[in-house]
Amino acid sequence: MSFDLIVKGGTLPSGESADIAISGERIAAIEPRIEAEAGRMVDASGCLVSPPFVDPHFHMDATLSYGIPRINASGTLLEGIALWGELKPLLTHEAVKARALAYCDWAVSMGLLAIRTHVDVCDDRLLAVEALLEVRREVAPYIDLQLVAFPQDGYFRDPTAKTNTVRALDLGVDVVGGIPHFERTMDDGRRSVTELCEMAAERGLMVDMHCDETDDPLSRHIEQLAYETQRLGLHGRVAGSHLTSMHSMDNYYVSKLLPLIAEAQVAAIPNPLINIMLQGRHDTFPKRRGLTRVKEMLAHGIRVGFGQDCVLDPWYSLGTADMLDVAFMGLHVAQMSHPDEMRRCFDMVTTESAGIMGLDGYGLAIGNKASLVVLDAGNPVEAIRLRADRLWVVAKGKVVAERERRHMALALPGRPASIHRRHETPRSR
Ligand SMILES: [Zn+2]
Repeated sequence: MSFDLIVKGGTLPSGESADIAISGERIAAIEPRIEAEAGRMVDASGCLVSPPFVDPHFHMDATLSYGIPRINASGTLLEGIALWGELKPLLTHEAVKARALAYCDWAVSMGLLAIRTHVDVCDDRLLAVEALLEVRREVAPYIDLQLVAFPQDGYFRDPTAKTNTVRALDLGVDVVGGIPHFERTMDDGRRSVTELCEMAAERGLMVDMHCDETDDPLSRHIEQLAYETQRLGLHGRVAGSHLTSMHSMDNYYVSKLLPLIAEAQVAAIPNPLINIMLQGRHDTFPKRRGLTRVKEMLAHGIRVGFGQDCVLDPWYSLGTADMLDVAFMGLHVAQMSHPDEMRRCFDMVTTESAGIMGLDGYGLAIGNKASLVVLDAGNPVEAIRLRADRLWVVAKGKVVAERERRHMALALPGRPASIHRRHETPRSR
């Protein structure tokens, strides 16, 4: 028996060690020891072998545009939206595509092989839509890219947003988006949720809305989103992104809201880096954290995936396509410090987000797509702690990125010559 690739001696997220054999684009075998020939062997001994990272919330039409035509001086969400409005008329098909492809290179280098990106449809040229449809096609051999039709300037607030949302979906955009809290009135926001969910139901599409991305505790569009999901039978196909207002909502109201979200099987996508950076900007002190109620939603059985949202764009001036940064920040802001909770944060940038995106053939199992990442860490929690190096990235059966293991040489008398910062943690509860 001969395989194309064998990843030998790695530790799976479950803690078992296993060899993974790959034939073509699929995983052919996972066993404690595989003694067989292979076109290529990867020595993953002592390393974590994980399914690839998944980003369920990104803006690839804006990424890497930081500073064009100027920076966001106040750092607020609203100035970011205004700045994006200034940048939009300057966009060209070539520039959007080049930046998106450059970001995809970064993503590959970080083992990030599935991305759901919103694409702004509030531009009658639909230039970003067309550019990202091309990018989706070009990166398909290594990245699963999902596009969301996103009416950034408001589905009702912008005069042509409705027509352009339909045009974008007709062109092949995958998911229906929205931004109810940005409409002019609460009622317009509510109606936008209803209309967009109906549009998704008619077309058999998924829904992912920017929902209640505000500190206003009375921004409750998630309620309507869950209600419409129930009414239209969209269970398991709808996500609410951000949901930041929930951090400031009245506890009694939330005790009624969370069971509704759970029943409707609406998923939540907090974006910890962006939420901690943009929310609470109108507060003095005490200053709100601005992340939604992650632990409480998990306790209600609501699916939660962490998103990256922005890298070097009008809203965020940092970012490296590292979903471990995202998990690290989410873990801190949501105070998920128990070992089980830290482990859950790893799932929220891998398997949970894959579930939200409805990815086909994702995960380390026989017959699934042979996409995986070998991390210089012993387990998922250590991967988050170290924001571990990716040693090998395999996409659909091919090694697409690799690097040497890095040690830091020390020059300290009587101390080790080099260190690696790996640490065996005792298994205890
Ligand atoms: Zn977003």
